Amino acid sequence: MTTVATSFIHNLNFLHVLYIVAFALFIYGMTGLTGPRTAVRGNRIAAVGMAIAIVATLLLPGEREWLLIVIGIVIGTLVGVPAARKVRMTAMPQMVALFNGVGGGAVFLIAWAEFRRTGGYAHLATYVVVFSLFAAIVGSISFWGSNIAFGKLQELIPGRPITLGKSQQLVNLLLLAGAVLLAGLVAGGSHSEAEFIGMLVLAAILGNAVVLPIGGADMPVVISMLNAFTGLSAAATGVALNNPALIVAGMIVGASGTILTNLMAVAMNRSIPAIVAGGFGGTGVVEGASGAGAYATTVRSVSAADVAIQLAYARLVIVVPGYGMAVAQAQHAVAELAKALQKRGVEVRYAVHPVAGRMPGHMNVLLAEADVPYDQLKDMDDINPEFSRADVALVIGANDVTNPAAKTNPASPIYGMPILDVENAHQVVVIKRSMNPGFAGIENELYFRPNTAMLFGDAKGAVSDITGELSDI
Ligand code: NDP
Repeated sequence: MTTVATSFIHNLNFLHVLYIVAFALFIYGMTGLTGPRTAVRGNRIAAVGMAIAIVATLLLPGEREWLLIVIGIVIGTLVGVPAARKVRMTAMPQMVALFNGVGGGAVFLIAWAEFRRTGGYAHLATYVVVFSLFAAIVGSISFWGSNIAFGKLQELIPGRPITLGKSQQLVNLLLLAGAVLLAGLVAGGSHSEAEFIGMLVLAAILGNAVVLPIGGADMPVVISMLNAFTGLSAAATGVALNNPALIVAGMIVGASGTILTNLMAVAMNRSIPAIVAGGFGGTGVVEGASGAGAYATTVRSVSAADVAIQLAYARLVIVVPGYGMAVAQAQHAVAELAKALQKRGVEVRYAVHPVAGRMPGHMNVLLAEADVPYDQLKDMDDINPEFSRADVALVIGANDVTNPAAKTNPASPIYGMPILDVENAHQVVVIKRSMNPGFAGIENELYFRPNTAMLFGDAKGAVSDITGELSDI
């Protein structure tokens, strides 16, 4: 009886059924990621799918080093679970970079292990060798590139572009050509481990050389691109190992990473080749980039009590959240203020820019966490015509996504980026701590306009102060 049960669970047809169930759960789970309400459930469903795929893979016939597998799972769990629980939303891009790097690293190590196990890919079908070498090169680029991206976002290395200048592209091309040449020698039957390692080293240097010249502001886009690379290299490993789970999961990551990269680039009005060429988004104010231009006067600073009066007598208030709201964790305070205003009959809407914050959907996730009704969140295209009807645009820790220079100043590095038309509101109130620039490192002429007032302070404290003042009116 036990033998029948054992042979059943190791039966390839049964394991393929498990894989199909896992893929169905991946896809069903992903449909949940289209909205904040269903995202957590979607994530859990996809995670169950991944657990089934892992179990099915471990049941595949073949010898296993069970002790090593268990040690690996324990180490991964001990590192991954606390890290994912503790990470703050604002540090999520770094976290994604790190986890993505681990994926790329696993892929190139598997290709290397297979190289050794098969005596340098001896007697393997050509397509298996080609896919393995592709996985090794792309996995290595992704591992090193992701680690540099992590280092930049975590400020372990400078966020500014680090580049060899004009020769950078040529150097990158030579590195790629060298790696492909060595891969060609291995595929041609050299079986040389020195050549294989040389190929990995050139790909590693290329991973560094591609990401170091890219400035901090473009880093989330780069991480999403590297994510797509890791997915493709995992899918290639799946082809080489004849494992459908790796092919499907890798292609899902590859395809979604590519779509996300494209969406982010479009929302920032940056082409992907321009991002990879680098040079944008260093720290510090970009000289001559924007400036206050014709509006260069002094800024008008107001108190929480002044803002409370303006808001109390408004009909429509549009809240514009940005990175500063996320850092200050002010979303609950903002939701409280909105409720207090709505009790007074004020209509409140939230204007959500596609790249407000530091990752796509950043604001939606935070506001959903604070139970802001989803129908009050408006996309940029829907809310922009509404600003001229708004009595007050309340900008909370947002900067670049409100900068009119994107529309008016061709010299600005963010020129052409679609932005929120906050300046069309009758009054604009901006909550931030200082006159410091946002992520693109440029001054915002909005702050110098006659209908703009600045409330200086931490977003959470300032918003709570306004709510407090409101109760006295
Ligand atoms: P910005 O980074 O432009 O500005 C954030 C502002 O928040 C700063 O000017 C800062 O001013 C203020 N701030 C910081 N901490 C606090 C605090 N505790 N309380 C109050 N204010 C605070 O943010 P945006 O959301 O407007 O724009 C996002 C930027 O990130 C864009 O340039 C976008 O291109 C870029 N980006 C976004 C990606 C995404 O997917 N979302 C991906 C890649 C890049 P001060 O220091 O004076 O307080």
